[in-house]
Amino acid sequence: MTNTLFDGLAAAGRKTPERRFALLPDGRHFTYQDVEDVSGRFANVLTGLGLQPGDRVAVQVEKSIEALILYLGTVRAGGVFLPLNTAYTPAEIEYFLTDARPRIFVCDPKKRDALEPVAQKAGAVIETLGVWHSPDESAGSLSDKTLAAETGFETVARTPEDLAAILYTSGTTGRSKGAMLSHANLLSNAEVLRDTWGFTAQDELLHCLPIFHTHGLFVASNTAMIAGAGLIFLPKFDPDAVFHYLPQATSMMGVPTFYTRLLADERLNRDSTAHMRLFTSGSAPLLAETHRAFEARTGQRILERYGMTETNMNTSNPYEGERRAGTVGFPLKGTEIRITDPETGATLPQGEIGVIEVKGPNVFSGYWQMPEKTRAEFREDGFFITGDLGFVDTDGYVTIVGRGKDLVITGGYNVYPKEVELVIDELDGVVESAVIGVPHPDFGEGVVGVVVAQRKMTEDEVVAALRDKLARFKQPKRVVFVDELPRNTMGKVQKNVLRDKYADLLSS
Ligand code: AMP
Repeated sequence: MTNTLFDGLAAAGRKTPERRFALLPDGRHFTYQDVEDVSGRFANVLTGLGLQPGDRVAVQVEKSIEALILYLGTVRAGGVFLPLNTAYTPAEIEYFLTDARPRIFVCDPKKRDALEPVAQKAGAVIETLGVWHSPDESAGSLSDKTLAAETGFETVARTPEDLAAILYTSGTTGRSKGAMLSHANLLSNAEVLRDTWGFTAQDELLHCLPIFHTHGLFVASNTAMIAGAGLIFLPKFDPDAVFHYLPQATSMMGVPTFYTRLLADERLNRDSTAHMRLFTSGSAPLLAETHRAFEARTGQRILERYGMTETNMNTSNPYEGERRAGTVGFPLKGTEIRITDPETGATLPQGEIGVIEVKGPNVFSGYWQMPEKTRAEFREDGFFITGDLGFVDTDGYVTIVGRGKDLVITGGYNVYPKEVELVIDELDGVVESAVIGVPHPDFGEGVVGVVVAQRKMTEDEVVAALRDKLARFKQPKRVVFVDELPRNTMGKVQKNVLRDKYADLLSS
């Protein structure tokens, strides 16, 4: 009997136990043998704390290699890993814990006092795990117990359908929902990404993403591990550290803001990236302009891919072949994509914009304890309705034009923000833009452009420049300038924040 995910991820590393799994900026490193041993220690401790197969282990801790191996130890012990954004407040944590009812809750040692009553209320055992500083300093109660535990652990058998993780969606509209991800969901996606992007044991992946989100936890870590590759595991994205480690890396996975920040740094050039075979981008749209500027500076074409918490990765630009700026490429092997009419659900002809639906071994089984919400977001034939709007071009490349909820309906006409943003972004002096709909007394909603400019620009200048380029109903009724667009940790522009801020702009 095997544990589908753990055994699947560990197989390559078991053949090379001495190979370094993670290089850490604190000078330590972890081999694949350490992954086996330390995950065994965690599994022993969790089991000793009462973890039964299927129990949740909720975790809100700073990024560390121990936190990553805690994920593996949880899966080995038959548990369900439930990472939580480090930015969540105790009040928010209370919602997640009372909803998910974990057996064990692991938090930062500094937050224990504030979170203990919350854990108690939810009936969870509380433990702490902090960032390691030195062998003489405790890194938390779970860390202490782990150091004292045995390394040997008989991995708990789990089938492909068993749950391996629950990841809560960011919940910008309504309550955050727990996406239930099975062993097979995660393993199949790791296999496909390894093969699609050509990961091997020779790779060194520069890991700067947070590990409470699907991108850093699964896309980056699982893909490297299943290939038996190495990670250069940094606590966060920091250009100095990135340029220090780039010469040792072969690949990096990033969100678009990593790339704009690298472009703003004069150290980015052909020499500093010469050792790299792959840069990927996802979690938010990469501007075509960023793609082109990055290529001009480094000779490297960023590979953009598309996925979400509920589905893992769905599409990718080709590794060999044309990586098309502004598109998210083709469906991954085994994943089907179709574009449907948001109202009727009918499949649309090629080229038309509609809702992106996906089906495949990567797609989750539903939302934790929300059977109705789950039913509403799946079609009867098993396709998941992503809520993203997009189209497929004649060559089969998928382009995303935005989230369905960001669609602006003005005077009965649909305006896809991306279309307007692309035109604004082309204007001389514009760095980037976000187009939103806000309440309008006649039209229901009116289009507003929020613009980041690199020189002094006026509203009239932008409005006049768009006049011949866009149909009248698509033209912004107002344009406002900001220093930067509000973004979450994954680099997604928070349009809900902009809609709230400019809610009254067109009402008088
Ligand atoms: P999350 O569940 O936090 O990973 O967010 C998933 C959402 O991020 C998707 O539904 C898309 O709206 C967006 N997203 C992910 N990758 C891309 C991409 N390459 N381009 C545009 N949007 C993306």
